[in-house]
Amino acid sequence: MKYTVRYAHLAQVFVKPWQALKEGDLIGIMGNTGQSYGAHLHIDCVRGRQTKKYTLSEIESGKYISEPKQLNYFIDEKLFGSKPVITTPYCDYDYQRLFRKLHFGYDVIPSSADWHIRWNRSKIGSVSAILDDPEGYGNCVYITFEA
Ligand SMILES: [Zn+2]
Repeated sequence: MKYTVRYAHLAQVFVKPWQALKEGDLIGIMGNTGQSYGAHLHIDCVRGRQTKKYTLSEIESGKYISEPKQLNYFIDEKLFGSKPVITTPYCDYDYQRLFRKLHFGYDVIPSSADWHIRWNRSKIGSVSAILDDPEGYGNCVYITFEA
């Protein structure tokens, strides 16, 4: 099964489309681009090889991976090279009240001052898209891998 991970709101992107990534390779630097109220990394994941913005229909058709799987797959110490701190959880209640929409993903920040974001899976990743979405997720990198 293929999965695509999205890394959003990046300040800088260090990868190119179709680039292969091995564990530890740099993806970019955490930032505050797009609709964001402070530097953080928004990270989420869907099934399949995605090359565009996720749509509501994709969410409703159940393509989003369930919350515990996202947490286990994508948030670990290898992401920043230090323990990540979750600032907005999946489907966070406060976020929903404030912005009147669900938060499908996690907002995380590193516990150290190092804002470099790294490919944190042992499987080889492939950059399937790089998008600039100023009204939404800002500078985004989509990385697909097989698991
Ligand atoms: Zn978010």
